[in-house]
Amino acid sequence: MDLDLSDEHVAIRETVRDFAEREIAPVIGELDREKRFPLDIVRGLAELGLMGVPFPTEWGGAGADTLAYALVVEELARIDSSVAITVAAHTSLGTAPIQLWGTDVQKERWLPDLCSGRLLAAFGLTEPEAGSDAGATRTRAVEQPDGAWVVDGEKMFITNAGTPISGCVTITARTGEDEISNLIVANGTEGYTPGEPLRKLGWHASDTRPLHFAACRVGADALLGPRGAGYRQFLQILDGGRISVAALGLGLAQGAYEQALRYAGERRQFGRPISRFQATRFKLADMAVEIAAGRHLTYHAAWLKDRGRPYAQEAAMAKLYTGELARRVANEALQIHGGYGYIEEFPIARFYRDAKVLEIGEGTNEIQRLVIARGLGLDATGGDR
Ligand SMILES: Cc1cc2nc3c(=O)[nH]c(=O)nc-3n(C[C@H](O)[C@H](O)[C@H](O)COP(=O)(O)OP(=O)(O)OC[C@H]3O[C@@H](n4cnc5c(N)ncnc54)[C@H](O)[C@@H]3O)c2cc1C
Repeated sequence: MDLDLSDEHVAIRETVRDFAEREIAPVIGELDREKRFPLDIVRGLAELGLMGVPFPTEWGGAGADTLAYALVVEELARIDSSVAITVAAHTSLGTAPIQLWGTDVQKERWLPDLCSGRLLAAFGLTEPEAGSDAGATRTRAVEQPDGAWVVDGEKMFITNAGTPISGCVTITARTGEDEISNLIVANGTEGYTPGEPLRKLGWHASDTRPLHFAACRVGADALLGPRGAGYRQFLQILDGGRISVAALGLGLAQGAYEQALRYAGERRQFGRPISRFQATRFKLADMAVEIAAGRHLTYHAAWLKDRGRPYAQEAAMAKLYTGELARRVANEALQIHGGYGYIEEFPIARFYRDAKVLEIGEGTNEIQRLVIARGLGLDATGGDR
């Protein structure tokens, strides 16, 4: 059993760490305060080839594996979660469906621009009335005599759909009474309008909006994958997406922990650094243990996926654990900063605000527990284990 990262993994981690510390850390506080999308940062990530990490090189991706991609998201979240979710939603939610189920024509149209980061992709699953119960989608796509589709409906909480470089959104829509399919809708299509940005508790520099579809006509070539396969397809996308959200929680926790460690060594009370008090040391020790556990869960889920083995259960475990971990660590790290943590003097206040959504997005904690419980074999045993 080899638990070492390969030289390539170490190199990609160092590249992202260096970029995040040099290009993101100095400006992200201001972008967050002003709720501005980090366009220059995304362009910088694109130049480094980090907007299509797990996709084949023939489409402009980096041709790397899931573990490399998880390392990228982790390192970004160590400095800022808005940037990390922008990359994660673009990669594993927005672009992956096209890479997995696109025809050659669809791939040629979209993947070079998406994998290079010239354009951003979004994933439109959630609706006002279909959140955890995502199969309850009400958006309709009606096939026309010429094979085109007319889409009507609303999506809610969609990441990356309204930025200056947003290219397309993959949506789920009802194409029959008991039938859900996926369609690609390009930004600028008549009848498709991204709404105003939502005012959020955190992730202030990321783009989250409702989407409106009113008599939105797209061609026959908008259908992504077989008609009626949309439900199975989005479940598969969510499984993969959970690894990147787990990496995000892990990176946020790591970043918050490092800030607390530094502050505890600098801040003096009662004539000594607060790191000398056992109460502080125990908090830091607990954080270090739990972060190590979260890292093992996350990398293991990525490792399984890279070997083509079943990974849904492990991805849900990693996502659940690191979501709760991020909230716990951000909370204790802020506590160690005392009153200075509560004002926007240090980045820890931003980390605290950014952590909560990790227990909600991409399947809530409760839904992760449902998924994990389903995998325990309770149904097969009549529930007696
Ligand atoms: C900032 C942000 C970005 C997002 N980005 C995207 C995106 O890019 N694309 C996208 O499609 N979606 C996105 N989402 C949506 C996100 O995935 C949903 O918010 C999430 O799945 C929960 O749905 P909901 O908000 O409707 O909550 P609900 O489903 O209404 O849940 C409310 C509460 O009920 C609980 N609950 C629901 N059903 C059950 C059950 N069966 N058993 C036990 N408890 C249950 C939930 O756990 C939760 O606590 C984003 C959300 C946010 C906040």
